[in-house]
Amino acid sequence: MKITHVEVHRIDVPAASPPFRWRDGLSGSAPVGDGAVLHIGTDEGAEGVALFARPGAFATLRDLVERVFRDELVGADPLQREWLWHRVWELDRIHELPLPALGLIDTALWDLAGRYHGQPVWRLLGGFREAIPAYASTSTFSSIAEFLDVADQCLELGYRGIKLHAWGDARRDVELCLALRDHVGPSIPLMYDGSAGFDLPDAIRLGRALSEADYLWYEEPMREFSISAYQRLAAAVDIPLLVAETSDGAHMNSADFIRAGAATFGVRAGTTLRGGITGAMRTAHLADAYRLRAEVHGSDIPNHHLCMAISNTTYYESLVTAAKVVRERHVDDQGLVHAPTGPGIALPLDFGYGKELLPFVEQPR
Ligand SMILES: [Mg+2]
Repeated sequence: MKITHVEVHRIDVPAASPPFRWRDGLSGSAPVGDGAVLHIGTDEGAEGVALFARPGAFATLRDLVERVFRDELVGADPLQREWLWHRVWELDRIHELPLPALGLIDTALWDLAGRYHGQPVWRLLGGFREAIPAYASTSTFSSIAEFLDVADQCLELGYRGIKLHAWGDARRDVELCLALRDHVGPSIPLMYDGSAGFDLPDAIRLGRALSEADYLWYEEPMREFSISAYQRLAAAVDIPLLVAETSDGAHMNSADFIRAGAATFGVRAGTTLRGGITGAMRTAHLADAYRLRAEVHGSDIPNHHLCMAISNTTYYESLVTAAKVVRERHVDDQGLVHAPTGPGIALPLDFGYGKELLPFVEQPR
């Protein structure tokens, strides 16, 4: 089987309704914009797709396909994913590809393989479980009272834990984290995600409060450029750190965080920023060798498959962005997400995407 065509389709990405925000200094939910679908087809009729939903996605992906990807892919065997994954990293050396683009070809090829074999991707990956608990991953609300109200609604709807994306102000965030623990009691798993909002002194201050309030993990408090800074943070706080979400280099980079003693809870493993399904699985296996977690990052369909295939992940991350909480359609009233059943990754092939893709196009920070 050979790849015969590689196309980019434009899709309209609807604005989140109601709009929402992230921490101070980051932009909020995007207005109506364009997204793109990478479509790979073959001489035997097998095909696969991957969704690219970032501001300016269509222009970026069309340019990459025209200049770089099409020549590489046409004529190649679509089932040789390892070879093509290797080739993408070679191309990155020259073209400095956007991080979310590094896994697009791989994700589309896994979708193609699943459709070709008539199996969901999580089963092709081996299959570890058929259901997993979801935690509510909040956007940033305006007050402690509003966060506490959202937390109550999430627990009422069945969510098994709550992860805060707060304001990025160390003093206020400490106050919120302690208030939430007081409010929900000792048995609810709580996590905190800094979305890289702090320097080392403030990250230490927050980490000590999270430890005092018995949070499960402390995620990405600083930009992930300096592993030394994370090493110092790990030495200064007891709260376990979950790191390497937005850093470049897939498992090769995760390895250095682990080696430095900075990934005291584990590392992130999502398709969007770790190089597709293949990069995420490499990262998960690496962490497993060290008996660490590889928590899947992202509320979208490819990551849904990863959650069913990675033994050392414990939750599905479900984005909660409205003050009147609506449970994501994949989460049941027991807070469980069940394994996808369709072949491939099972994004529709007719590109008629619309509102049903939300919240998948807004990735948790
Ligand atoms: Mg995060």
